[in-house]
Amino acid sequence: MQNDSNPNADNTTANQPKLQAVSNNPALTDMQKKIKIEEISEGLFRATTDKSKYIIEYDINKCIGAASCAAIAPLTFFMNEENKAELRNDVDDFDEDEVILASAQSCPVFAIKIIEKSTGTVLFPIEESD
Ligand code: SF4
Repeated sequence: MQNDSNPNADNTTANQPKLQAVSNNPALTDMQKKIKIEEISEGLFRATTDKSKYIIEYDINKCIGAASCAAIAPLTFFMNEENKAELRNDVDDFDEDEVILASAQSCPVFAIKIIEKSTGTVLFPIEESD
């Protein structure tokens, strides 16, 4: 079986639909919309940007409103009126990858997963193997 050596490998990305470019900023042309966000199931989002090596997978259903993600990565997450984090689609670009990874690592309920775009490997959270 493939990926036996890596319990964190995530092969689901191979069948994911292409992420759509989105932006609420009318000043941006299609070429300038670097952020791509897709809701892949109810409350479960995948997002990336042209420059990023990562895909962010964010489950808003898990969010308890601790706000550390938005504090660490303010170009990627914001807190909505219900005190839930949301991915931003009103910026030219997300934060740098290291910042996004740090924001995921700060989430106390592991609502943010970081997937390596090129391989589909889940970089965070690291799943324990027995
Ligand atoms: S750090 Fe986690 S729990 Fe806190 S707002 Fe962000 S996603 Fe929600």
